[in-house]
Parts: sequence; C-alpha cells; structure tokens
Amino acid sequence: MELILETRNLVKRFGAFVANDQLNLSIQKGEIHAILGENGAGKSTLMNMLSGMLAPDEGEILFKGHPVKFTSPRQAVNAGIGMVHQHFMLIPALTVAENVLLGMKRGRSPFFRFKQACAEIRSLSDRFGLNVNPELRVSELSVGQQQRVEIIKTLFRGAEFIILDEPTAVLTPPEVKDLFKVLRTLKGQGKTVIFISHKLQEVQEICDRVTVLRLGKLIGTQSLEGTLTSDLARMMVGRDVAAPVRGAASLDGPVRLQVEGVHARENGVSVLHNISFCIRQGEILGIAGVDGNGQRELSEVLFGLRAKDSGTIVLDGEELQRQYPRSMTERGVAYIPEDRHKEGLMLQMSIEENLIAKEYRKSRFSKGGIISRKKMRENAEEQIRSFSIKTAGASVPVGRLSGGNQQKVILARELMLNPKVLVAMQPTRGMDVGAAEYVHKRILEALEQGCSILLISTELEEIMALSDRVAVLYKGELLDTMDRDNADLDRIGMLMAGVRPDSSFAI
Ligand code: ADP
Ligand code: MG
Repeated sequence: MELILETRNLVKRFGAFVANDQLNLSIQKGEIHAILGENGAGKSTLMNMLSGMLAPDEGEILFKGHPVKFTSPRQAVNAGIGMVHQHFMLIPALTVAENVLLGMKRGRSPFFRFKQACAEIRSLSDRFGLNVNPELRVSELSVGQQQRVEIIKTLFRGAEFIILDEPTAVLTPPEVKDLFKVLRTLKGQGKTVIFISHKLQEVQEICDRVTVLRLGKLIGTQSLEGTLTSDLARMMVGRDVAAPVRGAASLDGPVRLQVEGVHARENGVSVLHNISFCIRQGEILGIAGVDGNGQRELSEVLFGLRAKDSGTIVLDGEELQRQYPRSMTERGVAYIPEDRHKEGLMLQMSIEENLIAKEYRKSRFSKGGIISRKKMRENAEEQIRSFSIKTAGASVPVGRLSGGNQQKVILARELMLNPKVLVAMQPTRGMDVGAAEYVHKRILEALEQGCSILLISTELEEIMALSDRVAVLYKGELLDTMDRDNADLDRIGMLMAGVRPDSSFAI
C-alpha cells in the first residue's frame, strides 16, 4: 500500500503542556482512516498541523513522500489537503457558490467566475453524491447540507486528502447515514479521508484503519477488520470500560413531576411549545434531540431560571407558580446546568465553599448566620472522598480543577441535597469516558434512592442507556414519548430531524 501522509516524531506544545507527543502517523492512499480519542487527547491539534493552521514544534510531516512545512492553511490547500472544521466557516447570508469562491484568487470577471463556479459545483455535487445546490443561501440549509458545502469547498480547491474533525457531532442519525454514503463515494473515487470521532461504533462502521490517541500520545494504529469495540475502548481510555447498567424500570411509582402545556417565548419567538410530560418517582425520562432545539430553555423553566408564558408545573401534587432557583432548591429540585462555568460554579471560590453554596444557611453548616469552618471542611472532605474528586485539598479554587472534576463538584453539591427531582442537562458533556462512567453511576444511585430524573442529552447512547422512557425535542416541541423498550433508533433519528415517521412530512 502506498502511503500518502506520514508524520515523524511530531510534537506540539502549548506553553509547558505537550498536546502532541512524538507522533508517528501513517496514512495510506485511498483509505478512510479514523483518529479516535477522548476529549483533549490531541486530535484537533494534530489535524491543525496537517492542515497548516498550526506549526509543529518538532518533527516533520511528509506528504506524498516529500517533507512539507505549511505556514498557512492556503499552502496545505494548494498541496491537496482540505479540512472541514468542527465549527463550519461559512457565511450564512451568502450563497453556496459565493461561499465556495470566498478567499480564492481572482481572475476573469466576477459574473463569469460565478457562472463557472456554479457549473463546477453542480458537477462535483453529482460526482460525489453531495446533493448541493450552488444558488441557495447558506442560511437556508440544514446543518447536514452546510457540512456538505464545506466538503465541496475542499473538493473545489482540488483536495485529495480530506480531514473531517468530529463531523458527526452536529448531525442527526439519518444525516450521519448520508454523510457515510458521501465518505464511501469519496473513497471510491480515490480520495483519502481522515475521520475524527470519539464514537466507537461510527469508527467501526465507516473506517478501514484507526489510530488511537490518548493524552497526546499515539497508542496504536491498526486495521478495523476483526477489531472489537471493547479493544478500541481500552486503547482509548487505557482500561476496561463498563456501560452503565440500568436495573428494571419502576413505572408504577407515584407521579412526582407533572408538566402540562408549557409555552415559553424569547423576544416574541416561541422557544417552548406545548410541552407536556410526567416523571414518576424513581424514573428517568430522557430527552433526546439535536443541540439548540429548546433543551436549555426547558431546563431553565424547570429550575426557575426562566419564566413560562403558560402551562402548569406540578410537583408532588402542588402547582408551582413562577419560581426562582432558590425556591426550587428548597422544594427539592436539583439542577446540573449545561454551562458549568457560567451557571454551575463560582470558579474563584474553593471546593468547600462551592459544595455548600446552596445550603450554607442551614443549621447543618451555620449558627446565627455564621458558617462553621469546621463543618464546611468536614463536609468537603467527605464529598471529595465519596466522589473521588482529584484535588490537592478542599481549599483549592474550583477554577483550577479539570472539567471532569468540576462536574463532580456540581454533582456532589446537588446530590447532597437528597433531591426529589434532578434536572440533568448534558451531565457528561466534555468528560472523558472514565469520568462519564462515574457520573452515570452516581445518577443511578440517586435514582435508586427514589429521585426522579429528567436527563437532557444530545448523546443518544447516553439517553438510551439510562432512560426508562425517551422523548424527542424538536424546535421547542416534544414530538413523541416512548418506553425505552419500544424506542428504536431509526424512529428517534427521524424525530430528531423533525420527521414524524407516520406522516413522512417534515414539520
Ligand atoms: P481533541 O481534539 O482530541 O479533543 P485538542 O487537540 O483540541 O483535543 O486538545 C488537546 C489538548 O491541548 C487539550 O488539553 C487542550 O486544552 C489543549 N489545547 C488545544 N489547543 C490549545 C491552545 N491553542 N492553547 C492551549 N492549549 C490548547
Ligand atoms: Mg477536537
């Protein structure tokens, strides 16, 4: 097999931190090669060096057998390397063709260039099955279509080596299927594709070979034929990983939280439309959906951070009027926010202070308005042990902990309250697999104590592994609620894209 790209002892540092440590990567011409690794493993850093966004500190890159030193993305593009970034770089107000032409050298008259570009985009679209119309405005396109425009952009510039950085993170399951078709066509036409992901099943489905990165080091490169998912997980995490185990569902407990016909608007625009659901004691209701479909707004209404326009919320038989976070806490509702920096923690304050932030008025921690330092410290030491929070001590500012450990502080603080209801918004986002496994374990423990849990997540695997029932949120509306046992992935995938399977119309 002919190698198209190699790196030799490639190193990238950010200050004293080594993000890529002596990497020797080798990519064969015409393969789909996965780069697999947890968040922070160094995948994007490596790709940014291959695509000219970052300069290596040490080592070299060989492309088609020759050493290359790119000092800008343009040089990489000219050599035949194109990258589709995790966050698209398109201008919504411009058309597809205008976006594709953007930043390219001028020649001829603008009108002539434009007509020629449209024709070429059509022909590329046909050849690679991309289904992209050059004359549409980018703002009119779905996320999946925008991604295909990014792919066309690289092809238009003559890319032979195409890097896709976590392309499936923003897609619904049907869009992922479409993308995989495109990747197979690219491969069939002789292009080389780098596919970055932290999802094992995707890598196994679409890739020929895989390179695993862990903590900036290259752990190994191997063919995917005959490789087990558990082997890949072990390479990625460095130990065996257990999927969360749900006990039998208890769907006959009393109803604890009942939400009926909730509407909410923001600046006159509807963000939540007629939301109704109930959660029983000891039950997890999972809410699936693509990011930005009202998840944040729903969790905010439930925790009293946002007012609803109409509808009712009933907790243990009592209707709640407009609430505020403090009164919700007093009523037994705990909340894991999506953005732990903005809403979850006081970063300059210590772990011990953050842990009692919701309870410091209680007699457990204070007398006559004065906080007992001793009790605060004892509590922190207990929680640090119980949640294995990695820290030098209870007085360390929370801002100095890693993301996973910050999330553990929030979880400890919320579960300390023995809540009746836990609203968990993306509880494991950005966490490595090990820390995520731990969070799942603690959530299931709370469930066994009788807590009712609303789990809002864009990770479908997380929803399916933990929930008793699953609902899909699309454009602020709950499309369907089903028992986990009847919830098949195809149906959920369609709903996430706004297609009701029985109507076949997009809504
Ligand atoms: P991945 O794509 O695998 O999630 P990245 O390559 O983005 O990982 O990041 C690897 C590590 O390098 C992370 O710990 C990240 O915080 C750090 N890092 C990435 N870019 C920068 C930067 N520009 N400055 C400082 N640290 C960075
Ligand atoms: Mg990345």
